[in-house]
Amino acid sequence: MKHLDVAAIKDGSVIDHIDSKSTLKVADILNIQNEEQVVLVGVNLTSKFLKKKGIIKIEGKIIDQKEANKIALIAPNATVNIIKDYEVVKKFNTVIPEIIEGIVKCFNPNCVSNHNNIKTKQHVVNKNPIRLQCHYCERIMGAKDIVLI
Ligand SMILES: [Zn+2]
Repeated sequence: MKHLDVAAIKDGSVIDHIDSKSTLKVADILNIQNEEQVVLVGVNLTSKFLKKKGIIKIEGKIIDQKEANKIALIAPNATVNIIKDYEVVKKFNTVIPEIIEGIVKCFNPNCVSNHNNIKTKQHVVNKNPIRLQCHYCERIMGAKDIVLI
């Protein structure tokens, strides 16, 4: 029997296996405080794979791949479940893409992408720990430098 840590939702998305410390940050990038959907957030839940995990359930919202990629930058172990009529109809892992466009701000204040209305672009040079190289100024950012747009 499936154990439910947080109440089930009828239709929407469940983001599971978030590193517990990152859960509220993930909630933040999903901008859920500005949405009207019901959102359930659980932190410090027990997990088979992580010491402690977080989970976010959003009623009536389907997480798309772009949002999943954003989540991956903060919670690389997270999985996304799409729920329809209380059943999981789709399940996918968040994936850090090879190239990130329009998601992360370049941390170099002099970078052309911060001035000329150019869509930001970084190459993922390492996934764990995360290292991103700006396509324009070639500076390399680590996790602490990442500011999401
Ligand atoms: Zn740059």
